[in-house]
Amino acid sequence: MKMRLFMPIAVGMALLLGLTAGAHAADKIKAFASFSILGDMVKQVGGDRVEVTTLVGPDGDAHVYEPTPADARNLAASNILFVNGLGFEGWMDRLEKSSGFKGPVVVASKGVTPRHMMEDEDGKSEEITDPHAWQSLANGKIYVANIRDGLIAADPEGKAAYEANAAKYLDAINTEEAAVKDTLGKLPKDRRRIITSHDAFGYFGAAYGIEVIAPEGVSTESEASARDVASIIRQIKAGKIPAVFIENITDHRLLDQIARETGAKIGGTLYTDALSAPDGPAPTYLGMFRHNIEALSAALSS
Ligand SMILES: [Zn+2]
Repeated sequence: MKMRLFMPIAVGMALLLGLTAGAHAADKIKAFASFSILGDMVKQVGGDRVEVTTLVGPDGDAHVYEPTPADARNLAASNILFVNGLGFEGWMDRLEKSSGFKGPVVVASKGVTPRHMMEDEDGKSEEITDPHAWQSLANGKIYVANIRDGLIAADPEGKAAYEANAAKYLDAINTEEAAVKDTLGKLPKDRRRIITSHDAFGYFGAAYGIEVIAPEGVSTESEASARDVASIIRQIKAGKIPAVFIENITDHRLLDQIARETGAKIGGTLYTDALSAPDGPAPTYLGMFRHNIEALSAALSS
């Protein structure tokens, strides 16, 4: 008799515990981030209160991403959307419309000074906005402030937590920024020139004094012209470019070919528009900087 009474109570308790755990998970703010670098930044600022879904994951190329119906369902189930902006996610408007998402949209790059450049497209010269603002840590701090303010607006109860997380993260970014400037500042002036496949280091180069030449332009959508490739090969042969770097997000056949034809050394892999897998060498925004700086410094020190 005692057992019979006890069992339903135990079952009831288990159910109650299960429901409480479920309710706790459901209480988290569901954030949707367009690509892995931004997803990591949202995780750092959101901490325990936020569950982050990242659309374009590790080693993925956001320039040419094609959203799926499952992406639209995930976005529809989210409370807040984080995008880079500056034309990076050309497919996002369509995804937002098809998902029916009506929540707040935080443009992480809001307030950065955009870089513009002229690019030849089908024989016409056009002005293009460079979207890769995260590659400067000074801009990364603007991203963090925008993420913090967006989360506070969406979840005012978490204000103190978001402010504390952001402050701690900004400290870490400041420390990394000083280390980057120190390490790259030691490189000889005539060796501060590299080649990557697409032009993702405009902000990086301007911030840290490295000249970056990229046959593909600011988007991986465009292809390198034969004239650009020939010009790069001439520059390497003239001894003006010490190293060629492949990128984690792009096909590296063109750079392999350039390296073969010129004898230039491949300086390693740079993480440009996406992080590595969690167990790889660049699993976070700051980890990506540490990895890239190490690779550049090893290849460009004399
Ligand atoms: Zn890019």
